[in-house]
Amino acid sequence: MSRFLSPKYAKLEAYTPGEQPRDKQYIKLNTNESPYPPSPQVLDALTRKDVEDLRLYSDPEGAALREKLAKLYGVEPGNVFLSNGSDDILNFAFMAFANDGAVFPGLTYSFYPVFADLHGVAYDTVPLKEDFSVDVDGMKGTGKFTVLANPNAPTGLALPLENVEEIIASNPDQVVVIDEAYVDFGAESAASLVDKYENLLVVMTYSKSRSMAGARLGFGLASRPIIQDLEKIKYSTNPYNVNRLTLKLGEAAVDSDEYFRENARKIMDTREKTAAALKELGFTMPDSKTNFLFVKREGLDGGVLYQKLKDRGVLIRHFSDPRIAQYNRVTIGTPEEMAAFLEGVKEIMKEEGLA
Ligand SMILES: *Cc1c(COP(=O)(O)O)cnc(C)c1O
Repeated sequence: MSRFLSPKYAKLEAYTPGEQPRDKQYIKLNTNESPYPPSPQVLDALTRKDVEDLRLYSDPEGAALREKLAKLYGVEPGNVFLSNGSDDILNFAFMAFANDGAVFPGLTYSFYPVFADLHGVAYDTVPLKEDFSVDVDGMKGTGKFTVLANPNAPTGLALPLENVEEIIASNPDQVVVIDEAYVDFGAESAASLVDKYENLLVVMTYSKSRSMAGARLGFGLASRPIIQDLEKIKYSTNPYNVNRLTLKLGEAAVDSDEYFRENARKIMDTREKTAAALKELGFTMPDSKTNFLFVKREGLDGGVLYQKLKDRGVLIRHFSDPRIAQYNRVTIGTPEEMAAFLEGVKEIMKEEGLA
C-alpha cells in the first residue's frame, strides 16, 4: 500500500479471481468458463474495418445490441443496460441502490461483500439451510437492497421462479437483484417478471453460457427508472464501458442464439454424466443447475484433492472458507476433459486408500 491511498480503502479486501496459471497447460475446470468456442457467426463477425474503426468511440448507448437483447427477452430497449461484464452492473447497483444496506445469502458469489465494502454499504447475510438451499423466508421483506444469485454459486442450486417472485414481491421499496450468471444451464429466469415489478433488476452475462468471458459483456433487464439510474452512474464513471468489438460480437451472438443454447444442453448432459460417475465413487453434491458441480467425498480432504489434481494438470476451485473447505467446485468441461478429471480422481482415491 502506498501512503497515498485514501484511508477509506485501506482495509478493503479485494475479490480474488480464480487462478489463470501460465506455468503449464492445465485442464481448466476452475473458473466456470465454457469449454466450447462462441458460434461461427461470432468467430466471423469482425473485419479489418472494425479494427480500423477502433479510432472511434463505441456507441455509448449500445443501441443495436440493446435492441436485439430486448427482442430476445421480450422487453423494450429502454429496459436493457449493457456493461463491461456483469460485475460492472453489480458494482453500479451497489453504488446506486444500497443506501439502506444490503442483504444476500450467507454463502454466495464472494464479490457481493467486496462491492458492499467498496461502497461503504453495511450488509447482512441470510445463512443457507442445512442442504445448502437459499432460505427463501429469510430473504423476504428485508427492507434492504437484496441480491440473490439464482442459481447460486458455489452451490449450483436454483430456486423455482415462484420463490424468486415471492422475494421480489416482498420487498417493493428496495431493489432486488437476481444475478442469473448461470440461468441458461437449467434454471428459470426472472426476465419475464421485469414488466411486473418496478424493483426488479435481472443481471445476465456473456461469460458463462455464451462462451465470451474474455469479451467482458454483461447486461441488466429492469424497469425504465432503474435503467435510468444505472445510466446516470455509468455516465458519471465510464460512458464507453463496452468497447466496439465486444458490441459487435455481442450482436452476432444474439443472431446465433440457438448455437449457445445447444452448447448449454451439451454441458448439462456432461454435467449429469459426471455427477453420476462421481456419485459412484462416493461423492455427494447438491443438484446443480449450473455449469459446475460442488462436490465432496467423505474421507477425502478437499484441499488434498485440489492439490493432487493440480499436480496432474487438472485445475478445480477450492475455497479456504472453513464451512466449505471439504468441497471443491468443478467446472463442466468437454466429455474428454471430464474423463481426464475422473481418471485423476480415481488415482488419487487409490493413493488415499479409498478405493
Ligand atoms: C461469473 C459470475 C459473474 C460475473 O461475471 P462477469 O464475467 O463479470 O460477467 C456474476 N455473478 C456470478 C454469480 C458469477 O458466477
